[in-house]
Amino acid sequence: MTAGEVEQPRVTTGGYRYVQPVISPRAGGLSVRVNMNPDGRCNFACVYCEVRRGQPGTMASPDLPVALAELADVLTRIRRGEASSLPGCAQAPAELLRLGHVALSGDGEPTLCPRFVDVIEGVLHLRALGHHGFFKIALVTNGSALDRPDVREGLRLLTRQDEIWAKLDAGTPEWFRRVNQPEVPYDHLLDNLRLMGRERSLVIQSLIPRLAGSAFPADQRAAFVSQLRELRGARTQIDRVQIYSVSRPAVAAACSHAPLNELSGLARQIRDEVGVPAAVY
Ligand code: SF4
Repeated sequence: MTAGEVEQPRVTTGGYRYVQPVISPRAGGLSVRVNMNPDGRCNFACVYCEVRRGQPGTMASPDLPVALAELADVLTRIRRGEASSLPGCAQAPAELLRLGHVALSGDGEPTLCPRFVDVIEGVLHLRALGHHGFFKIALVTNGSALDRPDVREGLRLLTRQDEIWAKLDAGTPEWFRRVNQPEVPYDHLLDNLRLMGRERSLVIQSLIPRLAGSAFPADQRAAFVSQLRELRGARTQIDRVQIYSVSRPAVAAACSHAPLNELSGLARQIRDEVGVPAAVY
């Protein structure tokens, strides 16, 4: 999953095919992203998505040995203090050139990767070798396949320090359909968040776009906050909510950045009414 959390274009740079270091305030430094969907396959079609998809994907997986070799190379350069030589990092402030996490991400939805478990095992093996010290792994997902047996099997391998960053942009099925244009029902997404959130704490990612120049409608905003409250009441563990907006031109027209006061007001409301940390990025 990429849209709105891509601070730089998702292109193959610096000789890397599957790995992209991204300066990410939300990761607290460098997010080193492993592209688990080189074909861009996704079961959402978010109005703000930055990925230009052609024909439907063929469910390709990354070439795992290549992806892991690239990841090892990037991590080595960061550990040696050479992060400013990584693609797109030359002008970055020094405090953002430290490793935030390794993100299981993609040009599409990473949990749809046919080799999901293999990728997780490969990244965990690299971590276990110890050459790069401990690094946190974050799965960045739209949440639609968190109930799939292979996804659950893979996620069970992660430690408590690893994170699941799950998308939730809507508090009603109507807004979900309008913004995310999914292939799955809203209730299915909520069930998945409850399922996973009872097992481990989630980081909720909420992208709030302006659609046709209009703000998040008041009734939808209230329903969104209320939905977060309901999830918490259903014992869904939420570590924090990250609010952000469109940062780059979306493929779909009529989708633009929401003003900061609108986003920070929503974050404040979540802190006050849901009782979880919420911040704007
Ligand atoms: S979940 Fe939405 S933003 Fe992420 S890749 Fe799919 S369509 Fe794009």
